[in-house]
Amino acid sequence: MQEATLACPHCHQAGKHELQPFLDLGKHPKQKLAILTDSLFTVSCPSCAKQFTVLHELLVVDEKQHIGLLLAPQSEARELDGSAIGKEGLQSYTLRLVATTAGLKEKILLLDSNLDDRTIELCKLYLTMYLEKPDAQLYFAEHQTQADKLLFSVLDGNGALEGSIECEDELYEQLLTTAQQVPLKAGFFTAVDQRWAYEYIRNSADR
Ligand SMILES: [Zn+2]
Repeated sequence: MQEATLACPHCHQAGKHELQPFLDLGKHPKQKLAILTDSLFTVSCPSCAKQFTVLHELLVVDEKQHIGLLLAPQSEARELDGSAIGKEGLQSYTLRLVATTAGLKEKILLLDSNLDDRTIELCKLYLTMYLEKPDAQLYFAEHQTQADKLLFSVLDGNGALEGSIECEDELYEQLLTTAQQVPLKAGFFTAVDQRWAYEYIRNSADR
């Protein structure tokens, strides 16, 4: 645990809070829910007892599945050297860098659904072209296995929920082989998001 002194946004009193910088989902699977419900990022003010959200750096690993997700809030970085994190053995891990809790939640949902995040980003890019809303952000919501569909939430430029959009499993299957061939640097936390997909398509058009 990491101790931090934070000012409450409600009563403006400074208080000491314990923040969790590291989480092993293999050992603590229930903590997944704490991320998905934001309770991991919620603290209570010791003065007025009201709750508020604190975004902090968090490394989530699954040592069994060899997965590492690094939440670096507001970070503009596209990749980060895993050896700078101070945790051994990350070289053989699948490493992802996210800047928001929405991004972190999406990665966890994708892991649970056993879906490849690179392929999902290519699907989103495809769907975004249909939406004709350049500011729209898509987040994976659910794999509807009965209907063979992938469901995405659509957020506007301010992050407000606008609706949802879906694609057939078939699109995912078609893009899977391509996406899995995209090389990622071993031992680096990489941002695999809509910008990643866009840059990938732009680079492959240039070749
Ligand atoms: Zn307070």
